[in-house]
Amino acid sequence: MSAQRMIDRRSALGALGGAAVAPWVLAASGRAARAEAPLMGAARPNFYRAQLGGFEVTTLLDGGIALEGPHPIFGQDQSAEAVQELAEANFLPPTQMEIVFTPVVVNTGSELVLFDSGNPPERRPGAGNLVAALQAAGFEPGQIDVVVLTHMHGDHIGGLMADGAPTYPNARYVTGQTEYDFWSSEERLAGPTEGNAKLVQANVVPLAQNMTFLKDESEVVSGIRGLAAHGHTPGHMAYHIESDGRRLLLWGDTANHFVMSVQRPDWHVRFDMDKEMSAATRKRIFDLAATDRIPVTGYHMPFPAVGYIDKTGSDYRWVPGGFQSSL
Ligand SMILES: [Zn+2]
Repeated sequence: MSAQRMIDRRSALGALGGAAVAPWVLAASGRAARAEAPLMGAARPNFYRAQLGGFEVTTLLDGGIALEGPHPIFGQDQSAEAVQELAEANFLPPTQMEIVFTPVVVNTGSELVLFDSGNPPERRPGAGNLVAALQAAGFEPGQIDVVVLTHMHGDHIGGLMADGAPTYPNARYVTGQTEYDFWSSEERLAGPTEGNAKLVQANVVPLAQNMTFLKDESEVVSGIRGLAAHGHTPGHMAYHIESDGRRLLLWGDTANHFVMSVQRPDWHVRFDMDKEMSAATRKRIFDLAATDRIPVTGYHMPFPAVGYIDKTGSDYRWVPGGFQSSL
């Protein structure tokens, strides 16, 4: 700033200071407060874009749902007190929790790749808002070239169809062979898997002719490959994304809570179909992220759902990545 401009600014401030009357004096004199405005409710952004080498990564908030918890959803094999204590130690309410849903779009420069499709529209207004988030981020559903599924739970496949038609009309699909075989089997249409298997029949099976099935660690498109992360579901997949030497781990539902699942990876989680395998997978994936200091995006991590895993001794901790412009 030039000396002349500094003087101008000082004299302007001086003039203002001389004439200014404190707002509480105005209020006391009976004049309306200028700051009067309606309360508008809580708000947060629904997309975040960062650069990863030559790729652009956009995380998209499909929504969030309030639940009673974290116990017994998390720490199913623990006392309520132990779980509540961990929540409070991490500045979280002890008996209420929110779960958010965060699909991701990766623009490789030649293809637009969407990971997971959010909740079915029936869950609106809380969730099922992926298309709105996608449009807010500057994309249209018709631009999506590839839809990749981490696994086939309802909050990941619920947005594949709208009124019986594919939401992403020009996309091809990629998912794990093991996952597809498990959920599309007729045996799943009875017992505890019935509800989800019906959604798979409605939303995934009709798309199968346009679907590539990964045998664990194979390539999705150049720079993106699958990473077996079974346990949460029998064929759950994580994905490794790399461009110009920059790496990102997309872990899907490897960990479903940024405190409970990360700080206590062995605790049983209601959503995990195989509790022991899920715990082993969590620690293997956490070790990969911590050792190589790779940024992570996780479907149920707090928005913008990007962070890091810090490992001290045998303890893990989620470190939020914040809204950085590059990863
Ligand atoms: Zn999920």
